[in-house]
Amino acid sequence: MGTTVVKFGGTSLASAEQIRKAAAIIRSNQNGCFVVASAPGKRFSDDIKVTDLLYACCEEARGGGDFRPTFGQIKERFDAIIRDLGVDLDLSEDYAKIEAHLEAHPHRDTMASRGEYLNSKIIAAYLDFPFIDPADAIRFDADGRLDAEKTDEGLRAALKTLSRAVIPGFYGSLPNGKIHTFSRGGSDVTGSLVAKAVKADVYENWTDVSGLKIADPRIVREPRTIHIISYKELRELAYMGATVLHEDAVFPVREAGIPIHIRNTNDPDAPGTMIVPEAPAEKPDIPVTGIAGRKGFAIIFIEKTMMNAEIGFGRKCLSVIEESKVSFEHMPSGIDTLSIIVNGAEFSKHRRKVIDGINAAVKPDSISYENDLALIAVVGHGMLRKKGLSAKVFGALADAGVNIRMINQGSSELNIIIGIDEADYETAIRSIYNAFYG
Ligand code: ASP
Repeated sequence: MGTTVVKFGGTSLASAEQIRKAAAIIRSNQNGCFVVASAPGKRFSDDIKVTDLLYACCEEARGGGDFRPTFGQIKERFDAIIRDLGVDLDLSEDYAKIEAHLEAHPHRDTMASRGEYLNSKIIAAYLDFPFIDPADAIRFDADGRLDAEKTDEGLRAALKTLSRAVIPGFYGSLPNGKIHTFSRGGSDVTGSLVAKAVKADVYENWTDVSGLKIADPRIVREPRTIHIISYKELRELAYMGATVLHEDAVFPVREAGIPIHIRNTNDPDAPGTMIVPEAPAEKPDIPVTGIAGRKGFAIIFIEKTMMNAEIGFGRKCLSVIEESKVSFEHMPSGIDTLSIIVNGAEFSKHRRKVIDGINAAVKPDSISYENDLALIAVVGHGMLRKKGLSAKVFGALADAGVNIRMINQGSSELNIIIGIDEADYETAIRSIYNAFYG
């Protein structure tokens, strides 16, 4: 076994008790182990994440208000962790620097990054691991885009002589030396970049859920967990709203062929979800890996006699949609009819422009639209060449009394996309889940 990268999310490091659980997991790794840490998250549902307190503090300072009470709460969170862990660490110099920063020129990203920075210092001291500041290794360009090459070099150089270290997640630096953060939840991205740089065997992402569920647990009661899923399947499900980690966290490890293991800090024996570069050769017993969906789409119906003979008809319609800055999703068609499925919110904003533009561009016999469409993706490598699969999906929807408005199957047979009325969304998800897993 080689190196493992373990990233712990905010709830996994929200208190001394949680950090102890994480430390037990880290210490159970016999080989190289790099730890990527988030800022302390919520300890209970009404709690405030340290990152949010830091943003609030920065806003107060920028507005000329008194940031000290909020900063006091932040210090208290860290001091309580230090005290309860019993580590010999004094952060007063760091606190003084942050206060001076707030007084002089409060910068949002610098402030937000201090949650990860301080928490990682504590965890490094508790584990007796070296602390590595990613400001010197993770690099963004002047526009704030990650410089993947420089970052890979920077992380490799910083970690090459080490077999273990604690690295704060969420931030790096700009060419001018200023701190820059990823978008929210970005410690997942740091973990992925570190895993790629050290050529880890696995990137373990420790969170507060035991992996990705087959369907949304807010809709299906106690859905089963997906134990193994390919990067391609994950991407399909994530696009349709199934979230388990930051979108940008997938690419560095996927490129390097490193699996991601989603695990639960509060239930370390649970198998979790393994995200693998390629689907296993052996077909699963149940062909559907996951079911996800989203509301908020609109459908535009266009009709014109002899549409099929008019070369460029579809392109002209799509150009209007593109110029109107509306995202297009699917385009099922008949001989003389075309339906275009688009993002509902963007369409309502630019509806006049789209309708007038299509009228002018292709002179249809009729054009109409409907809002409130939901899309559901049924995803799984096991669906490839599986006879009767769609019959089962559509049979389940028919039995549940759900009318299907649109069907689209990707050429890879990896997914079937179904358009339905938003009002039928929950019933549809439940009926498909039950057809395969009930
Ligand atoms: N602390 C940051 C956030 O709350 C980053 C992270 O936890 O991944 O978004």
